[in-house]
Amino acid sequence: MKLSKSKYCLGYQCKKILWLNKNKPEEKQEIDNEAVLENGTNVGELAKQLLGEHVDIEYSDNLSDMIEMTKDYINKNRTTTITEASFDYDDNFCSVDLLKKNGDKYEIYEVKSSTEVKDIYMEDASYQYYVLRSLGYNVTRVCIVTIDNTYERGEELDIHKLFKINDITDYAQERFATIGDDIAQIKEEGDQREEVQTPISEHCFKPYECPFFQYCLGIKEKNVFDLRRVNIKKKFKLYNQGYRTFEELMQSDLDNKLKMQIDFVIDNKPDLINYEKISEFLSTLTLPLYFLDFETFQQSIPLYKGTHPYEQIPFQYSLHLYNENRELEHKEFLAEANIDPRRSLAESLVRDIPRGVCVLAYNMSFEKTVIKNLAKLYPDLREHLLNIASNIKDLMKPFSEYSYYSKDMQGSYSIKYVLPALYPNDPSLNYHNLEQVHNGSEAMATYASLGQFTKEEQQIIRRNLLEYCKLDTYAMVKIYDRLVEIQKIHARQRVRNDQH
Ligand code: SF4
Repeated sequence: MKLSKSKYCLGYQCKKILWLNKNKPEEKQEIDNEAVLENGTNVGELAKQLLGEHVDIEYSDNLSDMIEMTKDYINKNRTTTITEASFDYDDNFCSVDLLKKNGDKYEIYEVKSSTEVKDIYMEDASYQYYVLRSLGYNVTRVCIVTIDNTYERGEELDIHKLFKINDITDYAQERFATIGDDIAQIKEEGDQREEVQTPISEHCFKPYECPFFQYCLGIKEKNVFDLRRVNIKKKFKLYNQGYRTFEELMQSDLDNKLKMQIDFVIDNKPDLINYEKISEFLSTLTLPLYFLDFETFQQSIPLYKGTHPYEQIPFQYSLHLYNENRELEHKEFLAEANIDPRRSLAESLVRDIPRGVCVLAYNMSFEKTVIKNLAKLYPDLREHLLNIASNIKDLMKPFSEYSYYSKDMQGSYSIKYVLPALYPNDPSLNYHNLEQVHNGSEAMATYASLGQFTKEEQQIIRRNLLEYCKLDTYAMVKIYDRLVEIQKIHARQRVRNDQH
């Protein structure tokens, strides 16, 4: 088996992954990775400028071409910086993100869009060090380049402040003594005929969730790994104690709320409704009632003055409202492409939401944080914005407090579970029926790329973004309506009971 950087990292996590990749690829499952903000490409491109002038080794399907080109540059230049410099030692291939040559000394720079140096990055860089050193290169420095999220952008982007260079030379040198044996073992097990036997454990989720987990777990019925609101450590503890299926878990020491999650599924229980609690929550709300939802995006490379890497930048909101006559209205905002959207969004928000009105958000800490950040930024709007933030109430409360619980929520009180549990099979509330944008991650990516399209195309994309966000607040309206309906049914029942 030939290794590359990424294959080595997979094998480092678990040797069985490489075996399964080769022998049972059909068992691989899609991993639902939340909000991939931006792939590393932009970061990688920008980081190329970090060491000044450089030459690029262009990607080729024929890796030997890349290796030959690298040799050529190295031989012809006493000092140089090469990106994607490529090497192979004993069927261990690697491309170094940035290789600096100064005379007979070499420095390796591995670029990551992360803000921290993870163990797996140190392994990645150590693998490169192993390849180059084994080939006889005198590598004097090994570094991981990460993003410094404390950096605040000025008028111009300062890449020397944006990037942080973390020296891990000592680690790579120490690792050199053992990594060769690890590589040999990864290859040997990856190539063996019989299936590699590795028991599942926390390593299946560290550093990355393994796409073969369901296969290795081998339990078809509902089990401990289907539980929500339990961390992976606790799940493995229960699993190793022999509490695996939902039936077995009922005998464990799980708390009552978690057992309820299981019990509702096993016994197919009807919805649990605490009428008093729901009425109590509804009594805190007043008309006009505003339903607010923001969309934000994050970028590893801050685009606007005063922003930090990975800061949440709001670009859109939807606002449904029940006016004093209980009629439903709708307002919305979506920023133009390629501009800092925050000022125009903040101005629009204070136009749309008067002071002192009741505002509902679902999981309100997010909306509150967005508004408070805007208030810090714009002193002239501060008082009004903070007033809006202070009047937000959380529509998630009746669900997070189990005033309403249905087995279809599967232990979650996220709106993506609560909504279909309350309105099963309602096509008007089905996000899959939307065009192009179906979730927050897609909204984020779609807005971030908006400026690349023609005016006509942008119109269509904008309409899709608006429809998506509108559904978010319409869903909140429907959840609120259902709670009101429940309250009314209960009130009627009480009158009937009193009459008897
Ligand atoms: S699920 Fe775990 S044991 Fe199975 S291949 Fe993945 S990491 Fe290895």
